[in-house]
Amino acid sequence: MKRIIVAQCHQEISSFNPILSHYEDFKVETGSAVIEQHTNARDELGGALSVFGQANNVEVVPTYSARSLTSGGVLAAPDFEQLSGEFINALRSAGSIDGIYFALHGAMCAEQEDDPEGYLLEESRKVFGDDVPLVISLDLHGVPTKRMLRYCDAVVVYHTYPHVDFFETGERAAKLLLSTLEGGRHPIMVRVPIPALVRGDELITETGSFGSVIRTAQEMEKQPQVLAAGMFIGNPFTDVPELRSNSLVVTDGDSAIALEQAIHLAEMFYEHHGKMQVPLTDVDKAVSMALDILGQGTVALVDAADATSSGASGDSNVVVRALIDKGYSGRVLAPIVDPTVVEKAFAAGVGATLQTTLGGSLDPKRFTPLEVEGCVRLLSDGKFSSETFGDSWCSGPTAILEVAKVTWVVTSRPVSLFDRALFYAHGQDPKRFDAVVVKSPHCESHMFADWCRQVINIDTPGATSANLRRLGHVKCARPVSPLDEDVPFSPQPEVYE
Ligand SMILES: [Zn+2]
Repeated sequence: MKRIIVAQCHQEISSFNPILSHYEDFKVETGSAVIEQHTNARDELGGALSVFGQANNVEVVPTYSARSLTSGGVLAAPDFEQLSGEFINALRSAGSIDGIYFALHGAMCAEQEDDPEGYLLEESRKVFGDDVPLVISLDLHGVPTKRMLRYCDAVVVYHTYPHVDFFETGERAAKLLLSTLEGGRHPIMVRVPIPALVRGDELITETGSFGSVIRTAQEMEKQPQVLAAGMFIGNPFTDVPELRSNSLVVTDGDSAIALEQAIHLAEMFYEHHGKMQVPLTDVDKAVSMALDILGQGTVALVDAADATSSGASGDSNVVVRALIDKGYSGRVLAPIVDPTVVEKAFAAGVGATLQTTLGGSLDPKRFTPLEVEGCVRLLSDGKFSSETFGDSWCSGPTAILEVAKVTWVVTSRPVSLFDRALFYAHGQDPKRFDAVVVKSPHCESHMFADWCRQVINIDTPGATSANLRRLGHVKCARPVSPLDEDVPFSPQPEVYE
């Protein structure tokens, strides 16, 4: 029997969110609970467990899983110490093992550690030595660092954006690990860093030009020598020294092919990168456009600068304030994080009138509290299932507050808003509103784009603004596009074997 460790540590952060993340923001499982929770789950561990379960000579050694409930700010130092300590201790008790699979993200950052995943990998090698095959999977928003690549044997990366291939990525990683263990394969990795940070619709893999690069990588993976191939666009909000885009190709002992193909992917990506930005509309113009089409169908006002799934604080009231200031008279639906207002709403009870300020409590440098007086219409524990995958989400205690024609969904903690689950769970159908504030850079098209009268990407302040120059990067290596002008690129591949 081959004894294979599975473990997970998964979080995406925005360095520009002033609120630190904490241990409590993770769902943690240990030992056999890792198998119980992830068998049949549509995540990376679920995919890997299904492959290992079908192999008749594999004993899965479950150790530790920590996955953040949603994205957030930089992880506080004591909390990363606790998380990483638990992760490594769980490995230490695993006994003798033959292979390792870690589901990681790649866009974490802790207060005193810019490369948490690299740290976990380096420490894992101290436990098991350099010879045990170690395969990891990463999000394509990850930043695969030199340290990560040095301390693992192979990396498998998502091929979809919006991400719908968590399970398949876990399957691919598990198959790669098994082929290394049993087929005597010797992974060699080549990465090519590309000095570009990108956003926008061109990244949607089904329809955008980024998709053509990914499909080229997938074609490469069909070649017998190529074990994995993919592209990382990095997370532009994780301000760490190695932040940029990267191509990555893993071959079976063939550095020439890995070099050629990684360079090819990088050049192909670079050719398209100029269009990979978001045309943004300033707030006043967006409100004028919404006014012009009032009564002709729903307008989606996309406030991706405050996207909780990308790590923003979620307490922006900028778009609604602008609508009110311009006398917008339509019905508006908007999500916002404000734990104090939720507390007040619970104290007041359903049907009560609440006078309070709303928003701007977490990121007060960017957002100003808005004076409101409204009716508490509904209170909930904030537990519901995601629309996309049906997994459990939690916005904490949540209140529906109706302020004139604005229906606020006020949550006490950030929750992902890349689908409509928060709205539906609280009795709100976006189709019944004239304007909906959508705090996500992308949603699957049937959720809004297919039926909305108009979708407007607004240039608002926020910790995840697509207006990247507005954010104030301090750590990432320069020059990098679009933070700098006319950034030259010549492929400088790095080989890891
Ligand atoms: Zn991602």
